[in-house]
Amino acid sequence: MLKENLKLGIMGGTFDPIHYGHLVTAEAVRDKFKLDKVIFVPAGNPPHKFRRKVTDKKIRYLMTILATVTNPYFEVSTIEIDREGYTYTIDTIRELKNVYGSKSELYFITGADAILEILTWRNSNELLKLCNFVAATRPGYGQDSIKRKLDYIKKLYKKDVYEVTVPSLAISSTDIRNRVYENRPIKYLLPESVERYIEKCNLYKKGDCLNGSSI
Ligand code: ATP
Ligand code: MG
Repeated sequence: MLKENLKLGIMGGTFDPIHYGHLVTAEAVRDKFKLDKVIFVPAGNPPHKFRRKVTDKKIRYLMTILATVTNPYFEVSTIEIDREGYTYTIDTIRELKNVYGSKSELYFITGADAILEILTWRNSNELLKLCNFVAATRPGYGQDSIKRKLDYIKKLYKKDVYEVTVPSLAISSTDIRNRVYENRPIKYLLPESVERYIEKCNLYKKGDCLNGSSI
């Protein structure tokens, strides 16, 4: 039996690969809003990442499992990777509302860079109605411009957007992929299990045969 009125964090991402920026942010939001759990949702075919090849979704899913296994409050969902075609956040949120009931409270967690794109997302109006948004400040993104944009969203949609400051983690998946490609260290940027898996599968290297799901 599902407990009613669950407070759930939703952490969507490409996770190519997942890193401590994602994990620290999810844990900070869980603690701040006293969430029952945080569900990590690896993206299937995200429409906004078409400019580069994205690692096969099964591999990104596995890395997400490896990274979250030590936190009893973290779960990983296959909801997006199971879906054919492009995946849109609105479909995921609708599906999660169905599974957990209309009384569940969803907190959609995004980095500040992603919150700035909300208005361009499919059905952003409905999305803002269905869940709370939590914008984690991420280094490299101007605080003033974020504040202005959040105020604009709040006014336009008459909806609060929460802000959470996370320890300054300037970690990004792009930087990690570049480091692997250039044989530079990635130690301490992501869980060791994920680092080992990247090595084992020879990800992000030239001729990396698994890195081939072109979208
Ligand atoms: P890429 O460099 O490939 O874009 P990424 O590091 O931004 O990867 P994503 O999978 O695109 O990772 O991000 C998933 C979510 O996590 C997004 O909402 C993003 O804003 C957020 N995020 C990514 N890195 C950090 C970080 N270091 N601190 C806080 N939030 C982050
Ligand atoms: Mg990103």
